[in-house]
Amino acid sequence: MSNSFILLAAGKGKRFKSKNPKQFVNYINKPLFMHSVDKALKSKLFKSIIIVSNVPIKNIKDKSIKVIKGGAERHQSSQKALNFLKNKKIKNVFIHDAARPNFSIKLLKKLSAYLKNNKAVVPFVKTDNSTKYKDGNILQNLDRNKLIFTQTPQCFDYKTIYKISRLNKNLVTDEASLCLNYKKKVKFIKGEENNFKITTKSDLKKLNIKSFYGIGFDIHRLIKNKKLYLAGLKIPFHSGLQGHSDGDVVLHAIIDGLLGAMRKMDIGTLYPSNKRRYKNIRSPNMLSPILKKLYEEGYFINNIDINLICEKPKVSKYRKKIITSLSNLLSINKDQINLKGKTVEKLGLIGREKAIACEAIVSLKYYA
Ligand code: ZN
Repeated sequence: MSNSFILLAAGKGKRFKSKNPKQFVNYINKPLFMHSVDKALKSKLFKSIIIVSNVPIKNIKDKSIKVIKGGAERHQSSQKALNFLKNKKIKNVFIHDAARPNFSIKLLKKLSAYLKNNKAVVPFVKTDNSTKYKDGNILQNLDRNKLIFTQTPQCFDYKTIYKISRLNKNLVTDEASLCLNYKKKVKFIKGEENNFKITTKSDLKKLNIKSFYGIGFDIHRLIKNKKLYLAGLKIPFHSGLQGHSDGDVVLHAIIDGLLGAMRKMDIGTLYPSNKRRYKNIRSPNMLSPILKKLYEEGYFINNIDINLICEKPKVSKYRKKIITSLSNLLSINKDQINLKGKTVEKLGLIGREKAIACEAIVSLKYYA
């Protein structure tokens, strides 16, 4: 294996309008450029990874990663990296723009497979937009079937690309066009819609997402001389909910729903009732570490639907307050939360006001 992965991270990204160059902003839990580095590492395709950057990069632990200084323009940076690899026995080189963090490892493998019979492999996507060429006041329709939008990573036979890039030191163009200019065999393969370039801040939110769902249920007995907490709110009532914690059935059902959607077991596993340190714990304190994890791992809450099952207190009376409280506790908008009150025709423990139950269904989005 003698592939090298060149990551171009030296751009200034003026359209991004940020103090930090865009390739170093935090994006789904890590610096944007690290998404590409991690995927290159995980693919196990590369002997070395060369990051071309004009700002120092710290905390790089993997020995296969080298950071080198870039040039003022993209083509200068890529030439520097190609020069750096000289005499390092590199067979193939992948060149990638750090501003495209969302390619898949599958794409890397596909590129590598196609390179066996070609000198260059370039992914591309087509457009559904109607495309025109504007020249002064003249608009010309372009045949969109002939239009392609190339992406990176692109991969090349090292010797070929090294040689022709040396011959064209001052030519501002990308490596794929260079190869075509020199009549080298370039294979164009289908790229990925998610592999868009991040140019402006709004691009950070543009991504195909996965959905996950979780269901939660909880019931606690009502006992005298205890305060009643529902959804983190203290509610005036003749009894409170019995339990190791404050017995907040609403938050417990939501926590189980969240954990379910994250595929991380349940509330009882996280907060065992035989552990003294959880005695009388307030439920918002049980929720917050789970929320932290949720956001850290790249999930976002889409919506929550709740059935609060009791004869009394009247849910309609507290609906607004409960939704406001949940919106604050979960850091989501009120319109992402729905609360339904359910009575049980005076049946059983709940009907006799001896217990309150709650069920919640949660949907999460995940930016893969
Ligand atoms: Zn509970």
